[in-house]
Amino acid sequence: MPLKVAILGATGSIGRQALDVARQHGDAVQVVALAAGSNFALLAQQALEFDVSHIALGLPAADAGQYPLPAGCVVGFGGAAITALGELPQVDVVLNALVGFAGLRVSHAALAAGKVLALANKESLVVGGDLLMPMATAGQLLPVDSEHSAIFQCLAGEPADAVARIWLTASGGPFYGLSREELAGMSAAQALAHPTWQMGAKISIDSATLMNKGLEVIEAHHLFAIEYSKIEVVVHPQSCIHSMVEYADGSVKAHLGVTDMRVPIQYALSYPQRWAAPVQPLDFRQLADLSFAAPDMETFKALRLALAAGESGGTLPCALNAANEVAVAAFLAGDCGFLDIERVVEQVLEQHQRQEVESLEQLEAVDAEARAHARELL
Ligand code: NDP
Ligand code: MG
Repeated sequence: MPLKVAILGATGSIGRQALDVARQHGDAVQVVALAAGSNFALLAQQALEFDVSHIALGLPAADAGQYPLPAGCVVGFGGAAITALGELPQVDVVLNALVGFAGLRVSHAALAAGKVLALANKESLVVGGDLLMPMATAGQLLPVDSEHSAIFQCLAGEPADAVARIWLTASGGPFYGLSREELAGMSAAQALAHPTWQMGAKISIDSATLMNKGLEVIEAHHLFAIEYSKIEVVVHPQSCIHSMVEYADGSVKAHLGVTDMRVPIQYALSYPQRWAAPVQPLDFRQLADLSFAAPDMETFKALRLALAAGESGGTLPCALNAANEVAVAAFLAGDCGFLDIERVVEQVLEQHQRQEVESLEQLEAVDAEARAHARELL
């Protein structure tokens, strides 16, 4: 019986690569539901190719009627319709590849419905890890983020109390090595040109500020129940080592591979099995040097802010994430400079009144308030 999968965020970078994995493993994967934000044209085309029974779009599409769909395909609009796809009785695995806070409800609903959650949407763990992790049974929440997939694989079969440190690798992003003066003048187009990974716009900017690595430290803290003092960020520009786990005896396990998200996406679907590689594997004879450096947290303040928010915990990561989403959207629209992103995040955090995380509704209120504050500061 093929695995029945709902891919939410199907039209994005992760979503399209997930569909390519499904295309290559049609015997093992059956795509039954697809969701996107506003791109109905591509969503409809994907629905036809994979003959899915349900689709949902975040925004209403006036022209929805003009696109052919599979016979009997149920179409929904709005956030609740997307969340409902993650709860469909026939769905085994929900791949959450939405971007931003909008993914939180989906992650929560999928876990509550007992689905396996293949999680690309790191923001839902960053803001709601305290809510989501207690809901997840062993093997129910599988990371798609390449570093976390790597760590998950390095941890397999090892006693949890033998973990000394997690080494989270960072490419450094397109601006690594630049001064703050140089960063101040960088445009969205320059920030979008990532050296090693092809990704959606929001995460590309997060990679340029190093906020992405900060979000990933918080993600790792929740996923692997490991304290912040045991998570080290190391800059590794070739992105060949996807992360490492160091054990009490000084042994280090690393996960290596090509820089192609289809590998970790596929592993989240095949786990605990392994299927044939979706891309040409790494040829070590073609590799040049592997290099490593400490992250520069003076120049890339966003990383420092994220680590501090993570360590303080509670609703601080939610406020951090909301301010970052608003500032990144403004930067992408050309409405603010590159360093305004960290400025807005820092100022929102300074004003935020920390609370313990209690509910989705509380996080939605914190998110809305931090967004409003960030908009005032821009
Ligand atoms: P993209 O921007 O490429 O795609 C986002 C997807 O979500 C699109 O399908 C988009 O639809 C949809 N979407 C956006 N906003 C909403 C909304 N409010 N409601 C419903 N749907 C929405 O992002 P990525 O694929 O790059 O990233 C997805 C997630 O995966 C992020 O959390 C990111 O951090 C994480 N990730 C991504 C990696 C990558 O290589 N891309 C690597 C590791 C993690 P539409 O096209 O219609 O706008
Ligand atoms: Mg990553």
